[in-house]
Amino acid sequence: MASDIIAGDVLAPVLAVDTPGSETSIFDTRALQQLDSAHYLHPFTDHGALRERGARVMVRGDGIYLWDSEGHKVIDGMSGLWCVNVGYGRASMTQAVARQMDLLPFYNSFFNTTNVPAVLLAARLVELAPPGFKHVFFTGSGSEANDTVVRMVWRYWQLMGQPQRQAIISRHNAYHGSTVAGASLGGMAGMHAQGALPIPGIHHIDQPSFAEHGHGMSEAEFGLRAAGWLEEKILELGPENVAAFIGEPVQGAGGVIIPPPTYWPEIQRICDKYGVLLVSDEVICGFGRLGTWFGCQLMGFRPDLIAFAKGVTSGYVPLGGVLVGARVAQTLVEKGGDFNHGFTYSGHPVACAAALENLRIMEDEGLVGRVALETGPHLRTAFAMLASHPLVGHAESMGMTAALNLVRRKGAGVHDCEDFPRELAVGMLCRAHMFDNGVIMRAVGERMIVAPPLVMTTAQIDEMVERIRFCLDLTLEDVERRGWM
Ligand SMILES: *Cc1c(COP(=O)(O)O)cnc(C)c1O
Repeated sequence: MASDIIAGDVLAPVLAVDTPGSETSIFDTRALQQLDSAHYLHPFTDHGALRERGARVMVRGDGIYLWDSEGHKVIDGMSGLWCVNVGYGRASMTQAVARQMDLLPFYNSFFNTTNVPAVLLAARLVELAPPGFKHVFFTGSGSEANDTVVRMVWRYWQLMGQPQRQAIISRHNAYHGSTVAGASLGGMAGMHAQGALPIPGIHHIDQPSFAEHGHGMSEAEFGLRAAGWLEEKILELGPENVAAFIGEPVQGAGGVIIPPPTYWPEIQRICDKYGVLLVSDEVICGFGRLGTWFGCQLMGFRPDLIAFAKGVTSGYVPLGGVLVGARVAQTLVEKGGDFNHGFTYSGHPVACAAALENLRIMEDEGLVGRVALETGPHLRTAFAMLASHPLVGHAESMGMTAALNLVRRKGAGVHDCEDFPRELAVGMLCRAHMFDNGVIMRAVGERMIVAPPLVMTTAQIDEMVERIRFCLDLTLEDVERRGWM
């Protein structure tokens, strides 16, 4: 039935619409939605609910804006999915990718072969990385990057003559991807519950969320306390069994959880004390999100491995990888022999060409410095002002990511607010008002988050925050009408 309409009714308008500059569309949205729900299994989606509402069909992007198939224009407050750092519609990205596709669309890096963009990108990443990083392993995604981390860490300790060091410690509510190893490293209870996860050897400690766990402490005290959970876990497992600790400098998908400044230096001290490898998952924090090339540089720690993806290509083409620091590289690369790991698309020439052009744009436009000195501070001030809204308990930001908590009753401090009952799903309600009124924000429970493209100007930040305020008003009215306040 659905396939009957593919040829004539759906594809024709889809193909006919490609007119840059036009904000209207001639898409048959309903037909697309029907085909979508009939055939396309979406990631992290309740398909029963999707079928009722129908997916929103995105058709075009330019700068910080997206257009859907009905011609609605929205501010993309989430950079796609934390990745479109240089914004949509960059002609030089298209050219770089097209040029490489003409020249050499694919070749593998197995069997003593390589390709020009992969070589140049590896060298460029090493220039940008913190001192001590001289090697890169390429993957197709952030999940594959973290799978690679697991395999590298285990292989490293095997080569070091300590094969019993297999435990990897991560944190509850962390996100490290959705492959079996990635989901195991991650601390998403809902993901673990749907399979036999985590795999053996992966352990979790609590996240450094001051709002959740910091009652009765100063933020500085809490940072040390939260890092102390790592030491307790290492001692519980036996230091001789612990291979690595992995964390995002700022937890992204978990809801922009910003640890106190005392946290990461103490984590570093503990890892050093027990010889445990330290892994920074920079899939979100890497490439300027926090105002530094890598988040560990801002947070004051020196990881042994850095996982990256998303912002490395601004999402234009999938690419991920692992930067390998001196300690692991010396063992694995210099005396490890064959490392039996890799992907068909490791070092994909088109993806690497996209990354090179993306990094050139970021450097030419000084985007990392702009986040540190101009747009990041502006976003912080704007979000601090949103905290005065009756529905907002508190707001936080770091670089170009920010979050606010929707609360039923405001209090003096983060621990004095009254939360909405989870089952009311006020975050989702708020998200829908945002989505319908021209701004994309993500809801993590009752925490509303943004991570806009790094090219967003201060004027555009104001435009976005005005819209957010308007939608908070709509949400407040809605919540009051339902008698939930
Ligand atoms: C998105 C993300 C991943 C997974 O990356 P994919 O490309 O979706 O596989 C891993 N770690 C973090 C911190 C992420 O945000």
